[in-house]
Parts: sequence; C-alpha cells; structure tokens
Amino acid sequence: MSSTFTYNFDTPTYKGVSTVPTGLFINGKFVDPVEKGTLDVVNPVNGKVLTSVAAGTAADIEIAAQAAKKAYKERWGLKVPGTERGKMLNKLADLLEANLDEFAALEALNVGKAFNMARIMDVGGAVGVLRYYAGWADKIQGKTIETNELKMAYTRHEPIGVVGAIIPWNFPLAMLSWKIAPALAAGNTIVLKPSELTPLTALRLCPLLVEAGFPDGVINIVSGYGSIAGQAISENMIIEKVAFTGSTLVGRKVMEAAAKSNLKKVTLELGGKSPSIIFDDVDLEQAVKWVGHGIFLNHGQACTAGSRIFVQEGIYDAFMKKFAEHASSLKLGDPFAPDTYQGPQVSQGQFERIMGYIKSGKEEGATVHIGGERHGDEGYFIQPTIFTDCKPDMKIVREEIFGPVAAVIKFTTEEEAIEQANDTLYGLACSVFTKDINRAIRVAHSIEAGTAWVNCSNIPDVGVPFGGFKQSGIGRELGEYALENYTNVKAVHINTGMCL
Ligand code: NAD
Repeated sequence: MSSTFTYNFDTPTYKGVSTVPTGLFINGKFVDPVEKGTLDVVNPVNGKVLTSVAAGTAADIEIAAQAAKKAYKERWGLKVPGTERGKMLNKLADLLEANLDEFAALEALNVGKAFNMARIMDVGGAVGVLRYYAGWADKIQGKTIETNELKMAYTRHEPIGVVGAIIPWNFPLAMLSWKIAPALAAGNTIVLKPSELTPLTALRLCPLLVEAGFPDGVINIVSGYGSIAGQAISENMIIEKVAFTGSTLVGRKVMEAAAKSNLKKVTLELGGKSPSIIFDDVDLEQAVKWVGHGIFLNHGQACTAGSRIFVQEGIYDAFMKKFAEHASSLKLGDPFAPDTYQGPQVSQGQFERIMGYIKSGKEEGATVHIGGERHGDEGYFIQPTIFTDCKPDMKIVREEIFGPVAAVIKFTTEEEAIEQANDTLYGLACSVFTKDINRAIRVAHSIEAGTAWVNCSNIPDVGVPFGGFKQSGIGRELGEYALENYTNVKAVHINTGMCL
C-alpha cells in the first residue's frame, strides 16, 4: 500500500497541514511502483530531504498507458460530451481554488519560490488555465466543405487517444495545467510525469481529480526519473502523442524516442535565451521594472527569462544605475516571508550549474556589475547577478543559465540590436522597450521568436499562443492553438449523387 507525506506549515504567510499521497496514481487509485523504487524530494532552503515518493519505471508507464487506453475507449473520448468534460474541468478549477493556499505552500516548499507569488502565478494561473479550457470543451468542431454540387465533405476534430506529458520543475502545477486542460477538453486521456525534483503538487492534485468526477484512468500521474519514466513515455507504443516541456537537450531525446517507437506526435516547449532590447526613448522607471521582472522572475528559472539585455548607448548609464538599484532591492530569503521576492534555486545541481556560469563569466572577462556570489551559507540561494562588458561569444551570452543572471550588452543602432538579438540558437521570446510605436512593431516583427512583448516582459496569457521558433520548440501551447496538439482531423467525404 502506498503512503502519504504530511507537512505542518507554520509560517508567517501560511499555517495549515498538508497531506500528500506518495504513490503512483494509476486508474484512479494510488499504487506502489512495480519495481518499488523511490526518489527523494528535497527542501531547497536547506538541502534536507522532505520525503520520498514513488519512482515509476517503464513497467508502471505501460500499466498507466493501458489504463488510459481502456478509459479512453470505455469512459471518455467522444463518449462524454464536451459540456460534461467542461463541467469536470470547472469543478477541478473550483477545488484547486478552494485549496489555493495549501497548493501554493507546497509549491513554495518544494520549489523554493515565494509563497505570495506561487499563490498568484502558479496556483492562480493553473486555475485560470483549467477554466479557460473548460470553456473550450464544448466548442471543438470541424468544418463543412462543399467540394462540388454532388459531393460534400466535413471535418471532425477527434481526440488523439492516450497522450503523454512530461513537465519541468520551474512551474510544476502551472505546467501540469497547460498539459492536462487542453488534452482533457479535447477528449484525450493522459499519462503525466512530473519532474523528479517537484512531484508534490501533482500528487496532491490526484484526490481532487477524483472529486471533480474524472473517471478512473482518464488522468494518470506517474512520478519518476526522466531517463527512466520520461523515456518510457516517449517510447511507449500505446501513447499516441507526447507533450514535453523542458530543456532542448532532453527535447531532442523525446523526439528521437518518438520517431523510433510509434512515430507519436510531439510538441516541445524548450529552452530560451531571450533578448530584452531597451531603446533610448523609454519610460525608464517602467523599463527597469519590466526588465527586472523579465530576468529575475522565479529566480531566473523561466524559459522566457530575458537573460540578454541590450541597452542603447544614450540611456545606458541611467538604465544601469537604476537597474542595479532595482536588482539589489529584491529581497532574498525564506519563501514564506511576506516580503520575499526570491527564494533558493531548486536544487544542488541547478545551484552548481548557475555558479559555474557565473565563474565562466568572470573568467571570460565580463564585469560583475552586482551580485555574482552565493547568498548565505545554507540552501541554494544565489544573489541576483548582472554582468556588463559581455561579448557575443561568451558562454553567459550564448547558453541558457536558468538562474538570476543577466548579461548586459550596449548597442548603438536598431539594426545592430536586431542582429545580435537574433544571434542565438533559441527563439522563445523577446521584449522591446520604446515609446516609438513604429519601431516597437518593426523590432517585434524582426526578432526570431514565438513571443514578442512590447513594453512588458515575461507575461504570458492563457488565451494567447505560446511556443518557440528555432531550437526553442515545436508547436504552441495556450489559447485555441493548443487544441490542435490534442486533436486528429478526420475528413469525411459524402457522395450526394456523383456517379462513376
Ligand atoms: P529537463 O529537460 O531536465 O527535464 C524536463 C522533464 O523531462 C523532467 O520531467 C525530466 O524528468 C524529464 N526527462 C529527463 N530526461 C528525460 C528523457 N531522457 N526522456 C524523457 N523525459 C526526460 O528540464 P528541467 O531542468 O526540468 O527544466 C528546465 C528546462 O525547461 C529549461 O531548459 C527551460 O527553459 C525549459 N522550460 C521550457 C518551457 C517552455 O514552455 N518553453 C517552460 C518551462 C521550462
């Protein structure tokens, strides 16, 4: 029998008890993994183990996929009208909202993010995504196409069947919602693997899935290691589509495994090295705040982090003075303190990786404008760091750091800024700051990225498609566009009198 993890939160911002099941959620029940493996979940504030949860393997993925297939055929898919699927998604949103503080506390505990932000961005965001796709569930429809007088055709947007989802640790619950909400709205069943670093909110959600009315097997949550359980999802022969969010390195492996197995459909939301471009004519106060939000949000652990900051020479000194003041004012510390902006990085591995990049920036000749060191001597805290004198070939300019580290580059002309901004393998997002509307539009159109923010940054919207150009991914999440990932279009041709 699988067990539970109970945590008594007694913090300045949240008091309460949370009980999280720690098994694998397959076919509506918690079960132990076939091979009885476990993985440790660590508190990034102090590096101590919080609990162990089940670590699934290929055998568990297969069992979950079988359950999802049976559920799809017998209890879900087009057997359940969209209005009913929408009701369940809305009920799940209500249940999540009713437990918003507990979920935010778990996210703060497991990821190290500030509780107050987790409330709004992570849990509030997930509630919004569930409601948005609840609204779509009964509006997914094909077209009637007249071909000639004696023949007509129509299209059906049918669910794909069993879909797999593999998600990262930076926004665990929000990323889960981006995957399950459109998939369920379209009538698919799911096998989802949360990150091995952050499985708690996904597991805590399982009892709410039952309460919301989703039939057994419609949503299966299998925690486990990426190279084992994640790989098994990509290779599974029952799973017809895999939606992956994570690094470009692993995205390649997912696509390769999909190609070598059943050629399952693949969508990839991958890494980024997004540019923020600040022209001389900006509203300085606002630009500084948005650029700071762009890079330091979620401790720099955002795929759309504006980690390359291009500043036009006329405003460079004034911008850097205010930007440094702003970054220095961001409060680091206990995720549960009311005024904390930045908690620890998620893991020892990420901490070491980011400190390695900071070291390489120093060695390659960039100047540490502020920060550049560990914060405190316990846990995985890193000071917000700004490098200046950055050159295009430096590692800190070329590679995704996924931490609170900005590389600033001075530029003179618009053409030069566009050329440098596009000098990257990635193409997830960009931000442009200027009061000149023509220039804003021109630059937004010139940057090779799936999202262009004008006079704002790092602020996706549930109704607006999100995804990458170049090596930042394939496909789009959010908005109506995401539904395309979860439907097969069937064309039905009807002969109304055409003779051979
Ligand atoms: P990661 O690629 O290491 O892991 C992501 C997920 O893939 C995890 O669940 C992991 O267990 C799993 N995984 C690992 N190896 C696997 C394999 N061989 N086969 C299948 N699955 C495997 O990424 P991460 O460290 O969790 O997250 C950080 C990365 O995610 C960054 O690169 C970031 O930019 C990216 N990200 C992108 C978006 C986006 O929407 N574009 C959003 C969030 C994060």
